[in-house]
Amino acid sequence: MQVWVIIVLDMKSITKELTFNTKKMREFINITGEVNAVLRESGIREGLCLVNAMHITASVFINDDESGLHQDFETWLEKLAPHEPVSFYRHNGAEINADAHLKRQIMGREVVVAVTEGKLHFGPWEQIFYGEFDGGRRKRVLIKIIGE
Ligand code: ZN
Repeated sequence: MQVWVIIVLDMKSITKELTFNTKKMREFINITGEVNAVLRESGIREGLCLVNAMHITASVFINDDESGLHQDFETWLEKLAPHEPVSFYRHNGAEINADAHLKRQIMGREVVVAVTEGKLHFGPWEQIFYGEFDGGRRKRVLIKIIGE
């Protein structure tokens, strides 16, 4: 049996939370600038950056910052999991947000982006978004970056 021991020197990490309280029930917000600011603050040059929604009716995802596409997402999600009629869902009890849980599941909980030479290592047009599906309340997003 072979055992590999990897020694990582100068490992750094940074942990931050962003808070949101959207006026609208559903909203997509570009948070790439905020994530970049945390990366700069960390001084990390090589590593991994995790960004995740801390609530089960909100998402973090990567895609294009293009308003037509965001409207397409909205229409598509509303077809998959329409908000109305709320009686359609079994989850709806004290709060009426079953559709928001389903929309979150489709759009995802988190993203991981490589950090290379001190920058988020994106493909073409990639941006990080917060997706709110049950707004009007305080929500948080976690950013954790580890590396050296
Ligand atoms: Zn719920």
